[in-house]
Amino acid sequence: MSYLHACLLRKRNMLTVRSFTILLLSCIAFKLACCFSSSISSLKALPLVGHLEFEDVHHASKDFGNRYQLLPLAVLHPKSASDIASAIRHIWMMGPHSQLTVAARGRGHSLQGQAQTRHGIVIHMESLQPRKLQVHSVGASAPYVDVSGGELWINILHETLRHGLAPKSWTDYLHLTVGGTLSNAGISGQAFRHGPQISNVHQLEVVTVDAGKGEILNCSERHNSDLFHGVLGGLGQFGIITRARIALEPAPTMVKWMRVLYLDFYAFARDQERLVLGGTKFDYIEGFVIINRTGLLDNWRLSFTPEDPLQASQFKSDGRTLYCLEVARYFKLDDDKDVMNQVREQTVYMHLQSINIADRNL
Ligand SMILES: Cc1cc2nc3c(=O)[nH]c(=O)nc-3n(C[C@H](O)[C@H](O)[C@H](O)COP(=O)(O)OP(=O)(O)OC[C@H]3O[C@@H](n4cnc5c(N)ncnc54)[C@H](O)[C@@H]3O)c2cc1C
Repeated sequence: MSYLHACLLRKRNMLTVRSFTILLLSCIAFKLACCFSSSISSLKALPLVGHLEFEDVHHASKDFGNRYQLLPLAVLHPKSASDIASAIRHIWMMGPHSQLTVAARGRGHSLQGQAQTRHGIVIHMESLQPRKLQVHSVGASAPYVDVSGGELWINILHETLRHGLAPKSWTDYLHLTVGGTLSNAGISGQAFRHGPQISNVHQLEVVTVDAGKGEILNCSERHNSDLFHGVLGGLGQFGIITRARIALEPAPTMVKWMRVLYLDFYAFARDQERLVLGGTKFDYIEGFVIINRTGLLDNWRLSFTPEDPLQASQFKSDGRTLYCLEVARYFKLDDDKDVMNQVREQTVYMHLQSINIADRNL
């Protein structure tokens, strides 16, 4: 075979392979397009009190860190738990070829695509019809509030404070949803005493996702306990929380709030451990790490002049890593002075490399 002939043959083979690849990709694209359009028309026929949004879906495609972009096929705005149950049953009935997956989304403040799904259905939990928050304080052995899974903790605080109550366990940041934090853990400075938020829930209403049944079930420590424990901290994989019964306690009216800075990690960790494990007069304890590159310390609020004249802004940390212990003690104005003195003593007893002590009223 001549050299020219061999070259021509190779070129023809390459052309054939290329044409075949293009044909295959077109077939896949066509099949996917058919699949999506049949999914869309099937979903559009779903009877809902809320609605499915197919156009304005970009807001549900991002995570908080803006690292994961997963565009969903649609966003479900449910008005009731039944809307969620119907959608899950319908998707299950469509079978595996639809390739649709479902993700519940609260505020979308989690990372790494937890509240996202590519070409699937994102359930916008804040759309759940917010029934009036029901605070139960009279006649109940312990007060509680019934809330929607899409409710924000900040709204729960405002409503329960009207009754002189507040949830026992918090997150620091309160513009997060009940379902979002109960699917993780929900941690703040009260966790050392009461446990995380998932340890302060009496009961849940859940739409099950198991085998696409889409049942609406109540569960608690005693009733459907597997479901209860699976859903709490379950990242939305075991069911979708549509309602929750949250434990409350009397809300503090005043708080003494202190921050203690450390240069030495071991001193910081030792004091924190001592406070968390030993008996303490504090109601809130949290530790965190600060890299003082942004002049953060210069902007710390001071609402009174500390006895120790050393100010945060005078502290030359030179961009070093610092450790901060944040503690608080709740009190009433007519509290025994002795109690507050004990708190002061305990503060002094800590290995204080303290530079900033502040008081504030709640
Ligand atoms: C600024 C900021 C401050 C934070 N502060 C704290 C803090 O102090 N303490 C703390 O513990 N965490 C904190 N976090 C983390 C936060 O608690 C979690 O990321 C939480 O999941 C966010 O709630 P969300 O409503 O945004 O949930 P999303 O991010 O929307 O969802 C989180 C997960 O829960 C699932 N999910 C959402 N709703 C439901 C539902 N109703 N039923 C079942 N599954 C559901 C989602 O599918 C996803 O897997 C903070 C995050 C940010 C960005």
